[in-house]
Formats: sequence, structure tokens, C-alpha cells
Amino acid sequence: MIANHSNDNPVIAYFSATSLNHHAEMGRKGASVTSKQRMEAARAALDRSVGRRVQLETESPYARAADRFICDTHDPELWKQICKVDQALRTNGGRSVRLYPKDPDTEISAGTAGALRASVAGLLSCIDAVVDGRARSAFSLGLPGHHATRDRAMGFCFINPIAVGAQYAIRRKQLPRVLVIDIDVHHGNGTQDIFYARDDVLFVSMHRYPSVRFYPLSGWASETGEGKGRDHTVNVPLKPPAGNTEYVAALQRIRPQLVAFRPNLVLVSAGFDAHIDDPLGGKRGTGMSLTTEGYGQLVAEILDIARECGRVGVVLGLEGGYHLGALTDCVEISLEKMLGARAAPR
Ligand SMILES: [Zn+2]
Repeated sequence: MIANHSNDNPVIAYFSATSLNHHAEMGRKGASVTSKQRMEAARAALDRSVGRRVQLETESPYARAADRFICDTHDPELWKQICKVDQALRTNGGRSVRLYPKDPDTEISAGTAGALRASVAGLLSCIDAVVDGRARSAFSLGLPGHHATRDRAMGFCFINPIAVGAQYAIRRKQLPRVLVIDIDVHHGNGTQDIFYARDDVLFVSMHRYPSVRFYPLSGWASETGEGKGRDHTVNVPLKPPAGNTEYVAALQRIRPQLVAFRPNLVLVSAGFDAHIDDPLGGKRGTGMSLTTEGYGQLVAEILDIARECGRVGVVLGLEGGYHLGALTDCVEISLEKMLGARAAPR
């Protein structure tokens, strides 16, 4: 059954302490933060007043079964490799190892596989909650994943929880169509890769203009899908210093296309690294200028799109965001908008 939501349903946030067990430096050289610091910053939003009105979930029934769902989306060899490295570190000791020796963004520690399982399990639980009608929207605070392709880890991402979630919603919850909106400052190349030839997922990515200098160098507007998936990938590259006005206008411009897709569920790759204070994507990095309020407006606009699509459920999954204070603020304002979203009559 696909639930339409009334305002009585709660907003759920998922946070598992297991996600703190991935140890890696993230962000830009000289301004890096650890994965654990990021997870703690995201959790801090739940300690604030808004968090007290949110139903917190810390355990997922999918924690043990996550491997199966991961391998439904990713090449099982990729997951096997991650688990092997993780296991070797736990057996032999040692702080961390690169999954690919030449790529510093693929640092694995003892505990990474468990943290990834928890991140995927949390997202699946959130999908269950909105699709089964127990929540009107949910935010899963886990490790980022949108750069992870079907068979390759990159950009601090090993497994792609949002992609695993979309696949789960279609295969296991029998939803015909899922809309994925990626608002991280970087192009969601991994999610695009996984669904590029599919017409049951509409993938939308709003990101900093790809250039020779900006990771991951993809996400041109001309990348629109292939085969059955033609016109089911929408890339919206934005030139720095794009901020609140440009972002909201860009989303409003493509809104008719998203509504016409008639999604049964909306998943959001919620990256907050286009924040003006972010060392990677913000003014101090490469120049985007979204404020916390701007992120709030974007989330509100996405909730309103879901309302127009028949009050379908919305699940946010955390992606990037490397300024700890801005990260806390953006998670908080997102939850605030989710709590405040009015389920207006259609
Ligand atoms: Zn990012």
C-alpha cells in the first residue's frame, strides 16, 4: 500500500551509534574533519529543541540483512572487498587502509563495513516508515554514498544508501517510480551511474558546475540518461556563487518535469556542502553561497513537490557537509521544515 500522509504522522530521524565506527579524514587538505566528527555534528541537531519533537530511531531491523540489499544494487565483489579489508583490520589491527591504494578518498577502518550496514539499514527503515504510513517524512543520518557507483567506491563514498533505498522501494515495496533529488554541491555521479538506463527512477542532481577543477568532473546538463532511461536523468549545474535565489529558482524551473514523473516516493541526497561556510563547496572553498535558511527553503520546496505529487513520502539521507556548525544547523532546519510541512488538501 502506498500511504498518503496526514499532518498527524510523526517525522522520524534515524541515527545509529554504529555509524561512528568509520574512521576517516574527510574534506579538504588543511580543513578536514573526521567522519566521526561529522556524524556527531549531525546528531547534535537532534539534541536541540527541534529534535525533541522528532521521533528518534536508533536501531533498524535491516541491520543484519543489509548485505542482501547492498548486493541488490552494487556489484557483490565491491561489498566483498570492503568487508575483507575491514575484517583484516579487525583481525590484524591497524588504523586504516585505502580500498584503492592510489585513492586517498577511500580510507577504510576497522568498523567501516558495520557503519555502512547501519547507514543502509537506517535508510531502508525510513523508507518503510513513510511508505507504510508511520511517518510523513524521515531523515536518515548515516555515511554519505552518492559518489559510489555500482562497482566502485570514490569520494568518501563506498556504498550508496540512497541508491540501495531506491532499488529497495521499487523491488521490495513494489513502488513503480522513485524520484531522487541530490542537492549536495558535488554531482551525484554514483546514483546517476546506477540508474542511468532505468525509467523507474528519475534522478535529479543540482551541483556546482563541472569543470576540470571540480570533483567529480561530471554532471553536465547534456547527461540525460540512455536507452530506457533517456530523459530520466536531470543535471542542473549551477555556476558559483549560486546561492538561495538561484538554487530555489532552478528547482522551481524543473518542478513540472518532476511532478509529471508521478513519483510514489521522493528520496533526497541531502548534502550540505554548498553552504557558504563549507570549506569544500562554499565561499571559502570553490564558491557556492547557500545559507542555512536557503537549505531550509530547498527542503521546503522538495516537501511541497512531494505534496503536489499526491502527498507521497519524503526520505532524506545525509551526504556531504564539512563545516561542522553548518552541518548541525542544516540538519536542524531540514527537520524544522519537515515538522512544519502542512499536508494541504489536494
Ligand atoms: Zn559533496
